[in-house]
Amino acid sequence: MQTKHIKAFGTEAADLDLKQLEIKRRGVTSKDVEIDILYCGVCHSDLHFARNDWGFSVYPVVPGHEIVGKVVKVGEGVKKHKVGDIVAVGCLVDSCRTCNNCKNDLEQYCSGWVGTYGGHDKYLDLPTFGGYSENIVVDENYVLKVPKNLDLAGVAPVLCAGITTWSPLRHWKVGKGSKVAVVGLGGLGHMAIKLAHALGADVTLFSRSANKTKDAKDLGADRVVISTDEKQMAGVSGHFDVIIDTVPYAHDLNPYVATLNTDGTLVLVGYLGPLEPMLHSVPMIMGRKSVAGSLIGGIAETQELLDFCGKHNIVSEIEIIKIQDINEAYKRMLKSDVHYRFVIDMTSLKKQ
Ligand code: NAP
Ligand code: ZN
Ligand code: ZN
Repeated sequence: MQTKHIKAFGTEAADLDLKQLEIKRRGVTSKDVEIDILYCGVCHSDLHFARNDWGFSVYPVVPGHEIVGKVVKVGEGVKKHKVGDIVAVGCLVDSCRTCNNCKNDLEQYCSGWVGTYGGHDKYLDLPTFGGYSENIVVDENYVLKVPKNLDLAGVAPVLCAGITTWSPLRHWKVGKGSKVAVVGLGGLGHMAIKLAHALGADVTLFSRSANKTKDAKDLGADRVVISTDEKQMAGVSGHFDVIIDTVPYAHDLNPYVATLNTDGTLVLVGYLGPLEPMLHSVPMIMGRKSVAGSLIGGIAETQELLDFCGKHNIVSEIEIIKIQDINEAYKRMLKSDVHYRFVIDMTSLKKQ
């Protein structure tokens, strides 16, 4: 197996800042596509993984799973992409391909799915390294096509923030007239508002921050409810069909369950961990309400979303940064000071 040493940004331990590293990439196998990375979005999961918040990080960590780039090389068996194509890679780069989840386009629920970073590269017996790097080599079946009309930096966050909110909106059949709420206005939250609005839903934002109200309305929210204001929360009691909760840290879900309508579902996409305080069952039983979870989306569903974004001209609201600014960007993300996704211009790594 041929390999290549390339420049990347990452960390060797949970308590260290990210810095420039050299990593090894495999050469293209017959089914692989080599992509020169142009832009990479910055997801809160990148920060969680770099800092081992979830306890399963493998170091060195090179984050980044909102990747847009240009194909520079293809293996001899590649049929779906060609040199010069603008393509994208999201959160997964492989899966077992034979289980029921894989057969049903639900690769994200395959027990053998390989994350874009922190997974296992079976060819090199190394961790997979993500998009904070010069290039990436991915099997053609896990590479997406980018609609030609979309801004290349703005489309990057569709690959995680977009699909993570799109998948539950579709699964819970959100459409015209659905009453949808989104908890938290960050990367995922702002895409959830845009997508639910484009699907025809009536959209409410739950936020702790009153100063995000104008932005939320500009993004397509019909109203904003300040989640720390009990009176405002009582005003939407029993109201929503679907709530997409993007908050990254433990928080009380009971006030949100109270705002679900009969048969309504609160979908957790943000926080990974034990719920504290506990959920009270009575409001769930009395209204046949559900609390559920959802993980990113499959490859076909991600392509469906990219095509939907192309048709409706939807991209993320972004702030472009250089890779050298990534540690500062993480600090701002922890203060919920992102409007509404950082995207790294990866030429800054090449110039270094
Ligand atoms: P983000 O840009 O930092 O946004 C999170 C938002 O949540 C903030 O803007 C803030 O909104 C709110 N928030 C933050 N801390 C809070 C707290 N302690 N209590 C209440 N609200 C808080 O993050 P993101 O990139 O959207 O990611 C959100 C979460 O989703 C992360 O944990 C990430 O790991 C996870 N994620 C999950 C999946 C999946 O497949 N399930 C995929 C991608 C990401 P307000 O200021 O409006 O309150
Ligand atoms: Zn992500
Ligand atoms: Zn599988």
